[in-house]
Amino acid sequence: MSAGKLIVITGPSGVGKGTIVRSLIARHPELYLSISATTRQPRPGEIDGKDYYFVSKEQFERAIEREELLEWAEYAGNYYGTPKTSVEEQINQGKWILLEIELIGARKVKKIFPDALLIFILPPSLEELGRRLRGRGQDSPEAISRRLVRARAEIEAKDEFNIQIVNDDLETAIEEIEKAIFGQ
Ligand code: ADP
Ligand code: 5GP
Repeated sequence: MSAGKLIVITGPSGVGKGTIVRSLIARHPELYLSISATTRQPRPGEIDGKDYYFVSKEQFERAIEREELLEWAEYAGNYYGTPKTSVEEQINQGKWILLEIELIGARKVKKIFPDALLIFILPPSLEELGRRLRGRGQDSPEAISRRLVRARAEIEAKDEFNIQIVNDDLETAIEEIEKAIFGQ
């Protein structure tokens, strides 16, 4: 497993990871985005097999038992995990893989793949993070509260990552990430 490259993007919910990753994938066809499995309910417009593999708790726990996940974590009351086979296959083919995952999963990936590039995305402020979560309008007030509590703990761990990028102006943040990934 040497030719491929693993890039991990982490940051609190609502910081803009999904927005950034979608833009990176659209601009750089050589990047492959790993699709995670989750027990969370799909948000309006989310498609099974594209945004996530939406599975039941039982299916997820079976995947854990069968060691089918590269990493997994519980987040705000649901399970999330990265399917092992597809990542290993893509890495072996020399592909560049993006994982958009939370902190516990990122730590696990760092242990398995010490050469992975770990990028942490920060909000300009916690107030702005709250505004983005509410503005997205897709999570209940309770889910937003759980995400904001988790955000504080995640931000405290930012120095465990190779690079920290503040997503204030979106285009600037994307350019900084492109520099980190491709060098310039
Ligand atoms: P995440 O994937 O980290 O949970 P999203 O990509 O869903 O976050 O973004 C959360 C909300 O913030 C979305 O409504 C998105 O349009 C908005 N957003 C993302 N980046 C910025 C930015 N730089 N400035 C203002 N709003 C942003
Ligand atoms: P959301 O419910 O907003 O889509 O995702 C919640 C959190 O789970 C985000 O921080 C997201 O990055 C993270 N996440 C998504 N997929 C995975 C995964 O496969 N593994 C881990 N550990 N976290 C994930």
